Amino acid sequence: MSRPYYNPIEVAPVAEIKALQTARLIHAVHHVWDYVPYYRARMEEAGVSPEDIQTLDDLKKLPFTYKQDLRDTYPYGLFAVPMEDVVELHASSGTTGKQIVVGYTEHDIQIWGDVAARAIVAAGGDVHSKVHVSYGYGLFTGGLGLHYGAKTLGAVAIPVSSGNTKRQIQILQDFGSDILCCTPSYATYIGETLREMGIRPDEIKLSAGIFGAEPWTEDSRQEIQRLLGIKAYDIYGLTEIMGPGVAYECAEQTGMHVCEDHFIPEIINPDTGEVLPEGESGELVFSCITKEAFPLLRYRTRDIATLTRTKCSCGRTLIKMSKPRGRTDDMLIIRGVNVFPSQVESVLFQCGQTSPHYLLIVDRVNNSDTLEIMVEMSPDFQFDAVRLVEQKQQEIAAAIQSTLGISAKISLVSPKTIERSEGKSKRVIDKRQLYK
Ligand code: ADP
Ligand code: ZN
Repeated sequence: MSRPYYNPIEVAPVAEIKALQTARLIHAVHHVWDYVPYYRARMEEAGVSPEDIQTLDDLKKLPFTYKQDLRDTYPYGLFAVPMEDVVELHASSGTTGKQIVVGYTEHDIQIWGDVAARAIVAAGGDVHSKVHVSYGYGLFTGGLGLHYGAKTLGAVAIPVSSGNTKRQIQILQDFGSDILCCTPSYATYIGETLREMGIRPDEIKLSAGIFGAEPWTEDSRQEIQRLLGIKAYDIYGLTEIMGPGVAYECAEQTGMHVCEDHFIPEIINPDTGEVLPEGESGELVFSCITKEAFPLLRYRTRDIATLTRTKCSCGRTLIKMSKPRGRTDDMLIIRGVNVFPSQVESVLFQCGQTSPHYLLIVDRVNNSDTLEIMVEMSPDFQFDAVRLVEQKQQEIAAAIQSTLGISAKISLVSPKTIERSEGKSKRVIDKRQLYK
């Protein structure tokens, strides 16, 4: 019988959660003030001292922390404990620019295990579950994060790491893995390989998957669920704050519960920094209130999402964040129109006979931006019927135009043309950057 939740705080009354957050925030502010000269200087510049922070509402008096602050203090300038108390280092995967390094104390690692265990339980896992971790192990937080979660729960961690897809499938079959953890791109790849090998989803034991580390749409969720015969759950996290487990999805599959007892989320207007009311879309900002080694306050994630505290059918009271639509730095501006790759993905799914593999190629020709969308078609698409190909291209171009308000050249390509990803996928080639 699976447990309804892992940690009682997940279902605590909201007032209790807020009281805990307040006490922890006050402590966290003193902690950085006392131990991180960089933070103290930033707070002094902003004219705030720890005594000014008494309530959750006071949080907004604190200055923001930006990725640039992490780069400026690279490698250890924001650490709040001496190195003798640090037991592990991780680094961001470097998707956007120079990597950053973060540290954990033993207590931080325990908390990480606890929040990742919540995600596994929310996906139906328990002490019997074999948790197949196909996120990369190493400096990237994906692999070890879920690994700690499985161990903390007392489940069985299978540290496969990413790559060697046929071997992944053999392990799925032979070891009887119950829960698969990897990026949604890799889950799709594993599912397609399974199909190619002629193995039906009901021939493997897998019942659920916990997928994150990159944006994915509801359509790709459906596709993964179908390919693997599982229920697919979202998980969110980032190296700077902890790694996977900052927020996780429950059976309702309508957004992710944020581990508010450790991380206070805010949504702000990215241009003005103003805190937005619940339900509005904006940039996610997190404050770590229990981290010892690397406690960021008001960290600007650049992820665009919303927060809502409506009653959830799972019984959890932790606030929920929506699937992030992508990062502000993933957003393309093409002839003045804002485009997220995930929006294109949704349109492609609606058009049918497409696969979840596509590439956006942005360029500048005669001083005007151009967008080409390479779309891989599903195996049943008839490429030899020229008229059908043209029709499909027009159909997709029209759908992109009406949904996103932008014209694009559509190039349909045959199955397996676009490179598959074992980790985070790359959806955009922006050639304009070459001319900068
Ligand atoms: P990098 O910044 O180098 O990619 P991370 O591995 O720390 O390093 O990535 C964290 C980022 O990954 C988040 O800020 C977010 O943009 C993205 N991300 C993580 N989980 C999800 C998710 N479930 N949905 C959408 N995006 C996600
Ligand atoms: Zn829920």
